[in-house]
Amino acid sequence: MTKSNLNMHKSSKILAKMDELEHEQVVFCQDKETGLKAIIAIHDSTLGPALGGTRMWNYDCEEDALNDVLRLSRGMSFKAAISGIALGGGKAVIIGDASVDKTEKLMRRFGKFVDTLAGKYITAEDVGMNTKDMEYVMMETKHVTGTPQSLGGSGDPSPVTAYGVYMGMKASAQFLWGSDKLDGKRVLVQGVGHVGEYLVKYLSDENADVFISDIDQDKLNTVSEKYNAEIIENNNILDFNMDIYAPCALGATLNTQSIDKLKCSIVCGGANNQLELEERDSLHLKRRNIVFAPDFLVNSGGLINVYSEIKGYSREKSLEQTKNIYETTLDILNKSREEGITSYSAALNIAKKRIADKKNN
Ligand code: NAD
Repeated sequence: MTKSNLNMHKSSKILAKMDELEHEQVVFCQDKETGLKAIIAIHDSTLGPALGGTRMWNYDCEEDALNDVLRLSRGMSFKAAISGIALGGGKAVIIGDASVDKTEKLMRRFGKFVDTLAGKYITAEDVGMNTKDMEYVMMETKHVTGTPQSLGGSGDPSPVTAYGVYMGMKASAQFLWGSDKLDGKRVLVQGVGHVGEYLVKYLSDENADVFISDIDQDKLNTVSEKYNAEIIENNNILDFNMDIYAPCALGATLNTQSIDKLKCSIVCGGANNQLELEERDSLHLKRRNIVFAPDFLVNSGGLINVYSEIKGYSREKSLEQTKNIYETTLDILNKSREEGITSYSAALNIAKKRIADKKNN
């Protein structure tokens, strides 16, 4: 194979992946001076500009980074669609270790790349980012959300995300037990970072029996003391008897092996892409009679919050709209039961239909 053929072969693999997941545009960015290597993926902009956070992660290889950004941006399209928000789905990844490689120059260079897309992609915070980084991005482009409240932005979206997860959890309880009261329910929150800790607060305020796990011992100790939550070793989660499992760390914790062992009645958490094999894992959960509250629905509070920033920010309005997650979750779980389909499919069908309807009008 000649060099140009080889390049064609490689690029056609990327186009094949874009074709499979139905992406509109993928932008590769690199800058020698700052060491920036980033990928911006625009999945679908039918409903509006593609919005999604920037994740900085030390990926093992470029392919992992590409797969991540394609999967995450697709999830954002469905998240916006299911929430009835006029936004498309996008996401960006920066390849590197956020604790070592992230500099002001690198973030500003990234901001310049975002600006070249002229608003077709709007960025925000994700794993490895903070509001200060968004300030740097903001110096180079106006197409950024989740900026600090001191600069007129909406600040950290995670309290609103956690509220939405809490609403989704209460709706799941209502669906399964005929009451949405969570007091006395054994809830395990895996990952007590930004979203997880706020969720623990909601749960402990309602007198749920809260258990926590994380890989960060300091965070565990702090949250445990603050909310009187019992610490469960991360390795022991699958042996742990609980009513509700709330994944709030990274994705893909629900897979063939874990679902077989999981001892809970409801899964409802803030993490993105919780199902490793999407529909297949959702079906596995259904067969085990475990109610799954679709992640892209229940964790959409953060997106609702940043959308409110674009429209003219109001925390009250964001919380009010996020409260609707309760009714939507209940509707989707009922639809899943009535139609004999998984909750994941029920939610996905609605999201896809909203996009298709707009496309056809
Ligand atoms: P975060 O980085 O603040 O918290 C993640 C926590 O998970 C950290 O405490 C980390 O130590 C812990 N963790 C990492 N790997 C773990 C593992 N293997 N086992 C147990 N704990 C582990 O992130 P966050 O902002 O709280 O987001 C959490 C999840 O929610 C992510 O999947 C994110 O994409 C998703 N999400 C966040 C928001 C938001 O508003 N922040 C919105 C939607 C979705």
